[in-house]
Amino acid sequence: MTRNAQLFERAQRVIPGGVNSPVRAFRQVGGTPRFIDRAEGAYMIDAEGTRFIDYIGSWGPMIAGHAHPEVTEAVQRAATRSLSFGAPTADEIDMAEAICQLMPAVEMVRLVSSGTEAGMSAIRLARGYTGRDAIVKFEGCYHGHADSLLVKAGSGLLTFGNPSSAGVPADLARHTLVLEFNNIPQIEALFATRGHEIACVMVEPIAGNMNFIRGDAAWHRRLRELCTEHGALLVWDEVMTGFRVALGGAQQVYGIRPDLVVMGKVIGGGMPLAAFGGRRDVMERLSPLGAVYQAGTLSGNPVAVAAGMAQLRIIQRPGFYAQLSAATGQLMRGLEAAAGRHGVRFKTDSEGGMFGFYFSDALPRNYPDVARADVETFKRFFHAMLDRGVYLAPSMYEAGFVSAAHGPDVIAATLEAADAAFAQLAK
Ligand code: PLP
Repeated sequence: MTRNAQLFERAQRVIPGGVNSPVRAFRQVGGTPRFIDRAEGAYMIDAEGTRFIDYIGSWGPMIAGHAHPEVTEAVQRAATRSLSFGAPTADEIDMAEAICQLMPAVEMVRLVSSGTEAGMSAIRLARGYTGRDAIVKFEGCYHGHADSLLVKAGSGLLTFGNPSSAGVPADLARHTLVLEFNNIPQIEALFATRGHEIACVMVEPIAGNMNFIRGDAAWHRRLRELCTEHGALLVWDEVMTGFRVALGGAQQVYGIRPDLVVMGKVIGGGMPLAAFGGRRDVMERLSPLGAVYQAGTLSGNPVAVAAGMAQLRIIQRPGFYAQLSAATGQLMRGLEAAAGRHGVRFKTDSEGGMFGFYFSDALPRNYPDVARADVETFKRFFHAMLDRGVYLAPSMYEAGFVSAAHGPDVIAATLEAADAAFAQLAK
């Protein structure tokens, strides 16, 4: 038995499914998850000493590459000053100021420890601010695992939501209305009948949890207009896109100003740190200023803030995103060319350091499009790449991530592996 298989067997005895977050279990693609020992730059090394080019980057945070010396040193320095105080620090002001400066829509921000916590808090704040209970989300968008957000659409359009996880009370799920991504008539119809009940519309501006799907600019503009018209808040979940698709996130890409922004991943540099922020008049409703309660023992943790600030300094250097986008673009064009050489139906899309690929002739526009894609081919491609030392997300519902450490050699090695993988698929 291989070392990874031994570890997986041991893990499954004491950890449900052997993993601490479901997608790590390789359930969609089958096979044994790789247990990671260490990572450096663009590479991860597993418990058997096998080296992989990593296109997951801890699901987004590692935009400067793994174990970047500046981030590691900042963490080490901070750790010697104690791991947590539970009291305010000067460093967390630096971080809040940096976020407010970089994110166009953020005037005030509160730090928390996970994207789930940030999303859940943003919704409570939107409800507290508007005095309304209903929230709108879109099928295929993931905003963390808070109860109100683990909800799928009911059978009919504009019906109340149904829980999509056991343990979520139906009474709570009925306040979550789920519509189709990129569908303007649906959101217009909903606002026309129930606009006065809606506290917020929450959306991933570029969805990264149903592969990679861009929200149409016209759809986003309509969401903005409808929220303003009906007194609902527009909440952009930029946990994945923030500091990833551009320095100023998707709000920079689209030039649209949401009322609240949910952030995570990149801002923590790989440590548990996330945030939510936005309009000052809304944020001032938070405790201790206002009546909306929100708190955290480890919020603004000094070691996490040190890691995040070190990474924020790196990504602000001139040319960072130009290089990241160029590397990602080169990878996408190379993959399409390799697929074309072997007659495999294949499309890609990307923005900044975030990408998606699909075994189909057209880019998907919503969740049903992704669900129709060819999962069997995806599985074969995933394993063909893994066998050749390229670690892609083990699910066709996930986006991929490139880091600044993915230089031309790394991209070239990936494309060489892809050429062989597509040849194998074509057989
Ligand atoms: N929002 C989005 C867009 C995400 O991609 C994720 C996680 O992948 C979350 C929220 C939840 O963040 P976390 O896993 O830190 O709780």
